Amino acid sequence: MYDVQVVRKDFPILERQVHGRPLVYLDSAATSQKPQAVIDALADYYSRYNANVHRGIHTLAEEATAAYEDARRRVADFIGAASPRSVVFTRNTTEAINLVAYAWGRRTLRPGDEVVLTVMEHHSNLVPWQLMAQDTGAALRSVDITEDGCLDLEAFHKLLGPRTRLVALTHMSNVLGTVNPVVAMARAAHSYGALVLVDGAQSVPHLPVRVQELACDFLAFSGHKMLGPTGIGALYAREELLEAMEPFMGGGEMIREVQLERSTWNEVPWRFEAGTPNIADAIAWVAALDYLEALGMAPVRAHELEITAYALSRLQEVPGITIYGPRAAEDRGGVVAFNLKEVHPHDVGTALDQYGIAVRAGHHCAQPLHRRLGIGSTARASFYVYTTAQEIDALVAALHQTQEFFTRVAGRAGRPL
Ligand code: PMP
Repeated sequence: MYDVQVVRKDFPILERQVHGRPLVYLDSAATSQKPQAVIDALADYYSRYNANVHRGIHTLAEEATAAYEDARRRVADFIGAASPRSVVFTRNTTEAINLVAYAWGRRTLRPGDEVVLTVMEHHSNLVPWQLMAQDTGAALRSVDITEDGCLDLEAFHKLLGPRTRLVALTHMSNVLGTVNPVVAMARAAHSYGALVLVDGAQSVPHLPVRVQELACDFLAFSGHKMLGPTGIGALYAREELLEAMEPFMGGGEMIREVQLERSTWNEVPWRFEAGTPNIADAIAWVAALDYLEALGMAPVRAHELEITAYALSRLQEVPGITIYGPRAAEDRGGVVAFNLKEVHPHDVGTALDQYGIAVRAGHHCAQPLHRRLGIGSTARASFYVYTTAQEIDALVAALHQTQEFFTRVAGRAGRPL
């Protein structure tokens, strides 16, 4: 039985007050809060065995190396990867996607080749491909959405062809919440010989994700969105793809032998980890994985489905609200973007902050999607393992008051805001 009150006790920050009210943290899609176990793991590393990895032969270096490589194994297990050699540590999802763009795309793409993206991508899965298209002459193609905020699969199938080299898409939209049918899309892409990169920034923290079942070639995700520290993320890639890839950055760690004019490369995945890695945060990420595994990813998903369904139904009570994305909670993750009539989303965000409620307002690094929706920005509430129905009630009550306040001010001023 999932007990959200027991979960909340593990997150010290949830005891905070903001503007004299209990913090209602509804911004987990931007970054999640951290359980005490993660905070302790960081302190433990720095207090007991801080040392550089792979180089030293002293006890601390051996302990740090063992813990860092154990973290790689744990991340691989968490996503069902066959081998830890398939996992490259990066700073975040963004760096993982750039790694693929530079280490694979730059050497593979030719003029006239096509990369298929979607209109709901985060900038981190758009801009690296734009840079790559400029460098290589490859063309970008983009899958549109339907009126209910799902990918237009008919359009997707029409975009695939013999020149498709890569399909790069998000597993879950950070704005619409849409969970995309990645397995079927990957199968279709593979039938044309294309590779598939999945942006798992929003899915790996919230859904049970197994790379073998997803049938993806690359999966990018961030530790900080899944209870782990900032500054650590991962790229999963099929080992034979990594083997065939050249390094993306040069320096220490990633080499086998260095001459003055040329070098040979280390084995994978270390070939892609130039310089001193983020040892502390990789190790502390394991505490987050332990925490999520103890809860179970299926119960985590079930909890978020329940909260999302409740939020979708309660938010509809707010006069003048527009909610974006699929109607049914089962088709989406724990993200609800919305707008109030005649109140700018930044004003919504600022007003909610006065009630101690943290939401995000803006384009959420998805400008093309907002343009497609015909709007500049949205307010976004996002949920996680510690979100309660009472917090949704607090959000709805504060939105009622915000709407009422702005309507009154607009009425007195005699003009719409
Ligand atoms: N993709 C998606 C869908 C996201 O939501 C985010 C974070 N907002 C990212 C990529 C980028 O993640 P990071 O900033 O950790 O690199």
